[in-house]
Amino acid sequence: MQSFEGPKEECGVFGVWAPEEDVAQLTFFGLFALQHRGQESAGIAVSNLHRIMVYKDMGLVSQVFDEATLKSLPGRLAIGHTRYSTTGASVWHNAQPTFKATQQGGLALAHNGNLTNTHELEAWLAELAPSERVPEKKTMDSTNDTSLVTAIMATFGDEPLESVAMQVLPRLKGAFCLTFMTERTLYAARDPQGFRPLVLGRLSNGWVVASETAALDIVGASFVREVEPGEFIAIDERGLRTQRFAEAKPKGCIFEYVYLARPDTTIAGHGVHSVRVRIGRKLAEEYPVDADLVIPVPESGTPSAIGYAQGSGIPYGQGLVKNAYVGRTFIQPSQTIRQLGIRLKLNPLREVIEGKRLVVVDDSIVRGNTQRALVRMLREAGAKEVHIRISSPPVEWPCFYGIDFATRAELIAPGLTVDEIRRSLGADSLGYISLDGLTEATQVPADQLCRACFDGKYPNSIPPAQAELLNLEEAK
Ligand code: SF4
Repeated sequence: MQSFEGPKEECGVFGVWAPEEDVAQLTFFGLFALQHRGQESAGIAVSNLHRIMVYKDMGLVSQVFDEATLKSLPGRLAIGHTRYSTTGASVWHNAQPTFKATQQGGLALAHNGNLTNTHELEAWLAELAPSERVPEKKTMDSTNDTSLVTAIMATFGDEPLESVAMQVLPRLKGAFCLTFMTERTLYAARDPQGFRPLVLGRLSNGWVVASETAALDIVGASFVREVEPGEFIAIDERGLRTQRFAEAKPKGCIFEYVYLARPDTTIAGHGVHSVRVRIGRKLAEEYPVDADLVIPVPESGTPSAIGYAQGSGIPYGQGLVKNAYVGRTFIQPSQTIRQLGIRLKLNPLREVIEGKRLVVVDDSIVRGNTQRALVRMLREAGAKEVHIRISSPPVEWPCFYGIDFATRAELIAPGLTVDEIRRSLGADSLGYISLDGLTEATQVPADQLCRACFDGKYPNSIPPAQAELLNLEEAK
């Protein structure tokens, strides 16, 4: 079966310190708002100041937790995680938060991003851990990079976790937004590049950290500020303490603006919806076409389609209906159902598109399977012409910072011209926004963005074996 998936988000993290609130429930709703960032597993760790309890399982947040489960998790502080596996297999053992017993109690940790120096960290763990700890590494119960960080932090004996974190965090390379906790304290940290978003919010009687501002909104927390790249925060009954473990070298992921983040989220002061509308206007400027109707590929293509319609003066309409949940069911579709392919997710509105010259706005083309099937489906439903407009440039390079685009060999863009891609999709025309146009639409200076999946310029180290494969000498 062909894959009709787009790029896979990495994870969502959440943390709350609010002794008078139902923290498990707040975390549940926070994760609910972050569900789009990972749908394979979900987990919550809570502490009642004496003991940490972790509950996690495979599935959507609403499949993993119900009222009874949440009631069985009383606490004063909590962290939560919703996962898509970018490293490690998609199995229960790799669900997060990870937990490790320490000499002082417990440590639970949740991670959004992807570390690029796991070999170095494994070697460090072996060094740190005297002989009796080495077997611990061998039996480490999960293969993901998050367990490695948890295991390393747990080797520091009775040293206070704040000082442990200040030694461990500078040694991590790649992308990481962490929320972690001991029995009494909530911690958060963001890598020096700030690849992924992480924000701090205030409740009337507590604090919240979350991957996106939309998660603050849903739990009634007010936005305070972003957790700074290279910043480490601790929150407990003594209040909020902040330290810098590395100098900030901002390189926010440009793809968060295109696709990953919710439209109602704000990143670095820029509303994601408005950025996407600007991208659409820019696309209309760069790739105008004579057409009757602009339709989005829902949901992520919607704001850019609105922008394209505004910029071009062509009417906007809904030509596709999304069945948002079918792709995430645990029921394995039969062969007959599977052959429906893209129709499982999108269904055309025949009365809207019949006889029309359509501009179809989508966020990205990864393998091209989705758009190929889409063009065929729209033509079958009576579209006269199908003009594809893409709100990101061609994806040419893999991401090592937490997004799973597929390997370079699976990507459609490398090695093909835009016209060859157009032909392969069967579209009448195809236009990708330029990288400069996209950057301008974000209103973030180019030197503060990671754009590596489009230009191959990785702002941080990538795993050496991968650098060799990609022939990227400078990135090793
Ligand atoms: S490579 Fe692309 S997806 Fe990955 S962090 Fe950079 S801009 Fe984002």
